[in-house]
Amino acid sequence: MEYAIGVDVGGSSAKLGVVTATGEVVLRHQVPTPVSDDPTWVAHGYADAIAEVLTHCRNMQISLAGIGVGMPGHISPDRRSAPLSNIHILDGFPLADYLEERFHLPVELDNDATAAALAEYCFGAGRGVDRLLVVTVGTGIGAGLIINGQPQRPVRGCIGDPGHIIVDARSQWQCGFGCRGCLEIVASSLAIEREADMLAHQSPGSLLARWLKRYGSLSTVQVIEAARQGDPVARQVLERAAYWLGIGLASWCYFFDPRLILIGGGVSVAGDLLLAPLRQTIQARAMPVYARDVRIDLARLGNDAGLIGAASLFLNDNR
Ligand SMILES: [Zn+2]
Repeated sequence: MEYAIGVDVGGSSAKLGVVTATGEVVLRHQVPTPVSDDPTWVAHGYADAIAEVLTHCRNMQISLAGIGVGMPGHISPDRRSAPLSNIHILDGFPLADYLEERFHLPVELDNDATAAALAEYCFGAGRGVDRLLVVTVGTGIGAGLIINGQPQRPVRGCIGDPGHIIVDARSQWQCGFGCRGCLEIVASSLAIEREADMLAHQSPGSLLARWLKRYGSLSTVQVIEAARQGDPVARQVLERAAYWLGIGLASWCYFFDPRLILIGGGVSVAGDLLLAPLRQTIQARAMPVYARDVRIDLARLGNDAGLIGAASLFLNDNR
């Protein structure tokens, strides 16, 4: 049996797993993102977590094909470092070389959204689809594209930053990179929480307003739950996010021409409350020749997609 380690590096924590050639995660580990102003120390923190996983692998007599690392950001052409990522201290740090020297196993980096897309293509809801776009909607919005089984990396080691296309040029909101009215700032979980807070104040009788009073703030999970319980204000918040997401994805269709778009990430937990208005917007706003060829559905692998995809760089000849 073939095995590989996948590491999904996130802003607050890194998820690690040992993955089989059929996409099963047989061992898991999670560590907080190391905090330091020394990149070597941060890399050392990740390496220690990998070392723990390797110890378990030795005990279970598992031999490994390699270590794949998914990073939230741009990836160098040789896939050895991330020139710009959410873990700024590692920008340009030769992480793959560092880990290879320590573990004597092949290491490769990839964009985390590309990794998630590869996982859905190999093992999830996008199996075998010839033009697959996987969109992760959480605090940010990322996307990975698989064409004929090949992960696409045409722009900065990924498909660029489609989450920052400008969909509402007159918006009062700017993202952390200074883009006014980009998709991320109007359709991510941050947007949902911001809108929920605003509408709850305007509708004091709503369930959202009661929860805001009780808990002091509203999370995306709470907004989704309130919408499920029928709160019209919560539904309005989700519909507004889905509308903006639909506007963005309608534009993406012109570049990527996907046959299937899978929605993953924390916001996708909303299921049909998100999908129905999203489908409606894409059908209404994209040119019919694109809109009629695309299906929109939910990703299947949830929080595991990133690490499974990173590991699968070393499984089934996916490199
Ligand atoms: Zn932006």
